[in-house]
Amino acid sequence: MAQPNELPTMDSFVQHQLQPYFIFSGHGECGLCGVCQEGFNDSPHGIVRISTCTHLFHRNCLLKWFNSTHSKRNTCPACRKLLFQLSNLTPEDIEAFAEEAARHLDAVGQIEEEEMRKIEEE
Ligand SMILES: [Zn+2]
Ligand SMILES: [Zn+2]
Repeated sequence: MAQPNELPTMDSFVQHQLQPYFIFSGHGECGLCGVCQEGFNDSPHGIVRISTCTHLFHRNCLLKWFNSTHSKRNTCPACRKLLFQLSNLTPEDIEAFAEEAARHLDAVGQIEEEEMRKIEEE
């Protein structure tokens, strides 16, 4: 059993203990993502496996969980195993980081929304 002070940092964990996982068609039941509770069939290239407990998640779901403000964000969402040391970031820092990341990800979506609005106004 690893002691808490032997846990890797989040960066180290994400780099070394998250494995890309590929599900091939016909592979059978692979379970559900422990974060969003949806299946993996629709995202064959965005799945990761936690090497220490072998649980599978959508990559984006798991990274969102790690960067959330939840006090248990350094655990596996499925089995609650401790995975890495919590950084010294305050919840405010993490929120700012998440907002920054969300702004990047939403850029395309916002453009699409504006296009929709224009169409509705006409
Ligand atoms: Zn998911
Ligand atoms: Zn787990």
